[in-house]
This record gives sequence, structure tokens and C-alpha cells, in this order.
Amino acid sequence: MRDITEKKLHQDAIAHSEQRFRELSNVAPTLIWQADIHKNRYWFNKGWLAFTGRSLEEEAGDGWIQGIHPEDTHRVITTFHAAFERRENFYVEYRLRRADGEYRWIDGYGVPQFSDEGDFEGYVGTCTDITEVRNSKAATDFFNVAHEMIYTTDLKGIILDCNQRFSEVTGYARDEVVGKAVNILKSGQHDQEFYSQMWKAIHSEGVWCGELINRKKTGELSTVITTISVVLDSHGKPHRYLAVASDISTLTEKRKQLEHLAYYDNLTGLANRTLLMDRLKHAMSRVKRQGGFMAVLFIDLDGFKAINDYYGHNVGDDFLVVISQEIKSTVRETDILARLGGDEFVIVLEGLMHNQDLKSIILNLLAVCSADVSIRGVKLNVTASIGIRLYPTDPEGYVIDAETLVRHADQAMYVAKAKGKNGFHYFDRIQDEIIITRNNAIQSLQKGLIDGDFELFYQPKVNMSTGEVYGFESLIRWNKSQSELLLPAQFLPIVQNDPLGIELGNWVIKTALAQLSDWHKQGLETTISINVDARQLMQSGFVEYLKVEMSSLPFYQPGSIVLEILETIAIDDRIKVTDVINRCRTIGIEFALDDFGTGYSSITYLRELPIKTLKIDRSFIAGITHSNQDLKLVINMLRLASDMGKRVIAEGVETIEQGELLIKVGCEIGQGYAIAKPMVADAVWPWLRDWQPCTAWQTSTNTDRLSP
Ligand code: C2E
Ligand code: CA
Ligand code: CA
Repeated sequence: MRDITEKKLHQDAIAHSEQRFRELSNVAPTLIWQADIHKNRYWFNKGWLAFTGRSLEEEAGDGWIQGIHPEDTHRVITTFHAAFERRENFYVEYRLRRADGEYRWIDGYGVPQFSDEGDFEGYVGTCTDITEVRNSKAATDFFNVAHEMIYTTDLKGIILDCNQRFSEVTGYARDEVVGKAVNILKSGQHDQEFYSQMWKAIHSEGVWCGELINRKKTGELSTVITTISVVLDSHGKPHRYLAVASDISTLTEKRKQLEHLAYYDNLTGLANRTLLMDRLKHAMSRVKRQGGFMAVLFIDLDGFKAINDYYGHNVGDDFLVVISQEIKSTVRETDILARLGGDEFVIVLEGLMHNQDLKSIILNLLAVCSADVSIRGVKLNVTASIGIRLYPTDPEGYVIDAETLVRHADQAMYVAKAKGKNGFHYFDRIQDEIIITRNNAIQSLQKGLIDGDFELFYQPKVNMSTGEVYGFESLIRWNKSQSELLLPAQFLPIVQNDPLGIELGNWVIKTALAQLSDWHKQGLETTISINVDARQLMQSGFVEYLKVEMSSLPFYQPGSIVLEILETIAIDDRIKVTDVINRCRTIGIEFALDDFGTGYSSITYLRELPIKTLKIDRSFIAGITHSNQDLKLVINMLRLASDMGKRVIAEGVETIEQGELLIKVGCEIGQGYAIAKPMVADAVWPWLRDWQPCTAWQTSTNTDRLSP
């Protein structure tokens, strides 16, 4: 026998406390349950049973699970079981069916129970109906996460509440505005009429929708699309106003940006073609009314493409931005400046009275464009070719529009370029007649080619101090009519992008070679240099064409052909150019780089380029006798050429002094009016007979010993 008094007393105590717990539980408004150590819920309080409307027997075990909303069952069970295994507290929100059949949201807490000895004894759990709380929370959440600003006011316009978005847009925290009059948002951008219309709509229709400009706390303005509606009370009487607004400032910004895109150039911010045309039209009618004249300047940068190709588009873009600012600085705020894309700009100068005004602006522009520009540590330099179209200068009855003015300026620009770049050219009507329509012009060129109206002139290249004649450069002319001899600048631009250009180029090669062969036959041992267009050079079959033409020459002496290519093209497609040059060299043709100094050659590249001769552009030669800087430049070019093992020819030697100075600094080979103007083939022999260098040249010597 054992004394069990102790145990019995203990059991009584437990039963007693259990009893107390259940009594308390039954009067609590909370739903309470108990589970044993096997997850069996064996007890539910009266609150629970009243809520579900089921008996303890029905709910016991797993019975209670039937009352859970099917969508929540899995979540509740897994949470309960998982916590149970680990003897942990748990919390789960779920829907439970009420006696009336409605599912209510409840929060379920569960807490594991342990004896004094620490043995696990099961779980006790409590639940409360949180449906109302949840719904109102959902509403506030919605209120606050809404992308719209939401605020309410009383009928006097005192703000009662606002959401988070309201604070984000206006900059006012909720506390700062609640209780304040709504006109705290007023921007002053709308007039009285606007507001009275708005209130009229609100009062008569109960709702108004429109664009409002509000003032933010920072003072900035914001554009919001706002719907204001009247909220009625339970008696159907106006109770408050509810405003829902979305901030469209960024949309408005976007719209502005789009407008900007439509009228302004993205890169430089200058006007684009559309805006230019629009403003030009207005300017034209203004000048007609007010008198005076205006000028349309078409500017194209020389050598820009090479910068782009060599340094990449980022540098090219930065350069354009800088140069466009420089150009802008030369004109008045009221003058129109537009970028048409690439390196093309148009300026419209209004209210001109004297040609002199224009001239100084143009010279200034040329100077500004040819100044050095530093981009990312690289010193860059271009020049500009400017075409000028004056208005009104047309004969009576001649109708002209803005488009045509710009086109004329463009044509004139081409002429300026062909004349040797870094210069300007006025549009003139004779030239226009040739270019009236491109097709007409092409047709007449085509006809000229068939009729044999083209002719090659020849200009000698000589050693100015010894008088030795190195060779002749062929220069194309067009005998358009009996009295009209056109220079290449007047017609080559027309065929620049036309197949006829290639045809004409082939004609030049054929004719020049025939002339060379003739000279050789007549005993004149000389060379000929032929200008070749980049496009022609890159043409597939170019080398083959040359081969065929050369092989058909009866009296050709090898090594007497030089092709002149422009400095800028050498960079364009260097691998291809190098390849063509090398292939030509295998058949005895040498190359000269024309207009040296005006384009943009990398020195390293020049060194590698298999070219024998550099022709210093005449724009440098023109300055050497009076500009120390030009002279220095020429001396540097000579040094450079000598370093690279190239021969140098000075182009455009116009005066005795220039020749003298050139000989002194070591450039003995020259070409230019001071030696001879380009002449017809028949004039070559007589010229040769008479030619001798002037005495000043003969006695001049190279004091700098720079001769390569
Ligand atoms: P370029 O190759 O630089 O030719 C030299 C130009 O300078 C020629 O103009 C010549 O008449 C001119 N010139 C020569 N000496 C002097 C001088 O002392 N002072 C001045 N101010 N000018 C002088 P031209 O004949 O009007 O040719 C202009 C350009 O047209 C040439 O420049 C060349 O780039 C191009 N060109 C000429 N003939 C052809 C051709 O057959 N084919 C191609 N593709 N281009 C040609
Ligand atoms: Ca040339
Ligand atoms: Ca040249």
C-alpha cells in the first residue's frame, strides 16, 4: 500500500484550476480552445461554440477544421502543425464560418502548455473576430497605397484627411494640412472664371473633373488631373467633398519634351529644320514689310567626319555641342540658328542694311569655326564652308519659298567647299540655272559628256628653284556653251552622289592617260596627276579599270601616273583605301594627298599610308608671307613630311614672294598661278618652251635645310 494523499491532492488542485480556467473561458468574449499532446482539440469554450453554432462533439478532434474557409484550411493546418512539432507559439489569420453561415476573419493565437516539471501538456488557443478591423485597414491601405492623391474637405473647404500620396506630391505632411483650408494648394494660376465654372459643375452635377495647377509646399507648381465629387450623408445631403487627383506634372514635362523634340535638336538644343522653316517663313514676310534684306547662311564643317571616325561619336558629339555654342556666340540672340543634322547649320540673319555687316559676320564665323577646340584632352580643329543666299534679291515676279532659300544656300555651300573649303560663296543665279533641278543638271551633264563638252586643263608642278617640270595636274572644265567655261566647283557637286560621277571620273582617267601617252609619244617625259574622288576610288573594279586603260596606251612610260586623293577620305575607310593604294602601286601608280592640312589625318596613320606626296593646301600658302603662324605651320608640315619620308608640293603659289619663301624653308616643288594657270593641252608645249623660274627663285636657297 502507498500513501497517495499527495498525488490526490495534486490532482484535485489541477482539476480545480482547470475548472476555474473553463469557467473564466466561458464568460470571455474570446473564442478559446484546448488541444492535447496529440494535436487533438478536445475543448472549445462557449464563445467558440456560440460563434460556430456547433456542439463540442462536432468541433472536437478535427471537427473544427470544417468551419475554416476552404482557401485558408491548408495554411491554418500547416501553421498549427508546424508550431506544434516545435512547441512554439503561433499566430494565424483566417476565415471561420459563423453560425449564420458568414465567414469572418479571425486571428488565431496558440500557446503550448507545460507542467511545472516542464512536460508538454498540449495547447491553449484564443481567437477574436477581426473582420471590421481588417476591412477598415484594407481601406486605409488602399487609401495610402493609391497612386492618386486623395483628400477630403468639409463643405467649407477645410481639409479633413489626406493620403500618403497627397503628402508626396504636395510636400505637406498629413498633420500640416488637416484642419487647414484647401486653398493652401492654390497656385494663382487660375482666374476667378475658372473657379466659378468648377463650383458650378460641382453644385449642379455633383462632380467636376479637370486640370488644376497646384502649388507645392516648396513653391513649385504641379499639374494634377482632379476629380472633385460631393459626398452625401445618409439623408442624401451634401456632407463633404472628396478629391482624387493624379499628378501629371511629369506627363506635362514629357509633353513639353516631345514638343521640344519636335522643334529642337536633341544634341545641341538649337532649333531643328522644322522650327527653322517656320521661323524663316515669318522672317521672309517681315523683311518684305520692313525693308532691308536678310541672309540665309548654310554652314558645313570641313573635316568633321574624320573626327567622328577617328575619335568616335562621343567626342564628335561633344565637339558639335561646343562648336554650336561658338557659332551661337557670333550671332545676335534674335537671329535664327538651327542645326539640320550632322555638321550642318543654318543661320538666318535679319535686318541687314549693308553688305559690310554680313561680310564681317561671315569672317567672324569662319574664324570661330576654325579655332582649336579641346574635347576630353584632345585638341580638335575643323574649318567651315559657308553658302550664302540673300533675300530678297530675286527678279520681279519670282516666287520663292523658305525651302528654296535654304536649298540655294546649301548649293552655294557646296561651291564654297569645292573652292577649297574654309571659305564662303554667295549663291548666284547662273549657278542655280545649272542646278535648277538636279535631274535637269544631271541630264545636261550627261549630254555634255556625250557631246564631248568636257575638257581637261593642265597645270604644271615644278621645282621652283631649278625650273624642272615634274608633271602636270589635270583639272576638269566644262565648255557648257560657246561662252561659258565652268569650273569643277560649279558642276562636280551635282554628280557627287550620282552614277554619272563615276562615269565622268572614268572619262577623266581615260582622257588624262591618253594625253600622257601622247606627250610620251612626242618625247615629253613627264608625269600626270589625276584627281580621284573617294567614291570612285572605293568603287569595286577601280584598279581593274585602270589596268585596262593603261594597257591600251601605246606610248605609256611606267611610273608616270599619280592619283590625288583628298586628305579627308584617306581616313574614312583606311583599310580599304590602303588596300586600293597598295594594289595601284603594284601597277606603278603613286598617290598624293591633296589639300593637306585641311582635313583631319592622324599623323601615325599618315606615316603608314603608302602615299608618296603631300600637297600643302593653298590656304596655308596664301598666308605665309604675312602671317608668321601660317609660315610656322607650313614649316611644321614640311618637317612632318620629311620625318615621314614624304615629298611635299606647295599648292596655290600665287606670288614670287611666296615661292621665294617656300624655297627658303625647303619646299621647292610648287604649283600655282605664279608658275602657270591651268591651261588647255595645246598650250602645254608653248608654255614649256618659254618657262623658266624667276631670278628670285633661282638664287634662293634653302636656309633651313629642311628639304626632305
Ligand atoms: P585641287 O585638286 O586642289 O586643284 C587645284 C585647284 O586650285 C584648281 O582649281 C586650280 O585651278 C586652283 N589653283 C591652282 N593654282 C592656283 C593659285 O595659284 N591660286 C588659286 N587661287 N587657285 C589655284 P579647279 O580647277 O577649279 O579645281 C578645283 C577642285 O576641283 C580641285 O582642287 C579638285 O579637288 C577638283 N577637281 C578638279 N578636276 C577634277 C577631276 O577631274 N576629278 C575630280 N574628282 N576632281 C577634280
Ligand atoms: Ca588636286
Ligand atoms: Ca588641292
